[in-house]
Amino acid sequence: MAKSEIIKEIPLACSNEFAAVEFLERKIWNGTPRCPHCQATNVCQIMDAKTGGRSKRFLWRCHDCGKQFTIRVGTVMEESRIPLRHWVYAIWRSATSKKGVAALEIKRQCQISYPSALFLMHRIRLAMTPERGASAKLTGIVECDETYVGGKPRFGTGYHKPGRGTSKTPVFGMVERGGNIHRRVVANVSGKTLKGAIKECVDKSATIMTDEWPAYRGVGKDFTGGHYFVNHGTKQYADGMVTTNTAESSFAILKRGIMGIYHAVSKKHLHRYVGEFDFRWNTRNMNDGDRTVAAVQGALGKRLDFKSLIQ
Ligand SMILES: [Zn+2]
Repeated sequence: MAKSEIIKEIPLACSNEFAAVEFLERKIWNGTPRCPHCQATNVCQIMDAKTGGRSKRFLWRCHDCGKQFTIRVGTVMEESRIPLRHWVYAIWRSATSKKGVAALEIKRQCQISYPSALFLMHRIRLAMTPERGASAKLTGIVECDETYVGGKPRFGTGYHKPGRGTSKTPVFGMVERGGNIHRRVVANVSGKTLKGAIKECVDKSATIMTDEWPAYRGVGKDFTGGHYFVNHGTKQYADGMVTTNTAESSFAILKRGIMGIYHAVSKKHLHRYVGEFDFRWNTRNMNDGDRTVAAVQGALGKRLDFKSLIQ
């Protein structure tokens, strides 16, 4: 199924509104159309009396609550007038481009306004971001690291992480070696903040690996696998199994993407971009069709207040 989706279904849904609607209905409802108002499945398509085909707006009616709805209701696409074929195109591009896709590119290719493209992309990021606490806890070896978006000077320029203490925005990442990543924008890199995030996202059986940043001191007492750290300050990057290389390379992708594609990301929206990059990391073993469908399915149950999108 996934292969034919990439070759036939997705490109068709990017160019034909009817195909887009039916593609989204199939994927979001997963075979069982459901009323977004009352969750009933006793629903039917509203037909056009003249043409005998589906109504112009692709409406459905619920027999239980009597309300009408479309596939947009109750998803990130609600209250948007952007044609659904552009949504499918932008989701597809976003799910399959390693570093993401710029709103300017979507603006040109879909011939929509820049604010519309930006709005579209922010909502797609929301679809890609799991709700807090909804993801499985990380297990095994979990590497933790922090970075500063906006640029962190390299080693050898004094203290190894001069970004600490500056106004740049800290992002904290926890990555299971060979598994998933959880990153979040944090207010600071204090022990309380970092250890709190680790406790929330990492299973008690895990082994924690970090660098020598003092905020991590004592984190091992909460994890049966213990805590090991590398000392970057003494140029000790990898002490056998004890490394944070996975976390560092995942941050490198994030930073290259933000600098190369998005150029500048405001602090207010940074968490959305982080969610998008985490989504791609966590679905890296899926093919392009399955990853696109995963993003489409994330659209359900999430809405974003328009006001929160104004930069
Ligand atoms: Zn209903």
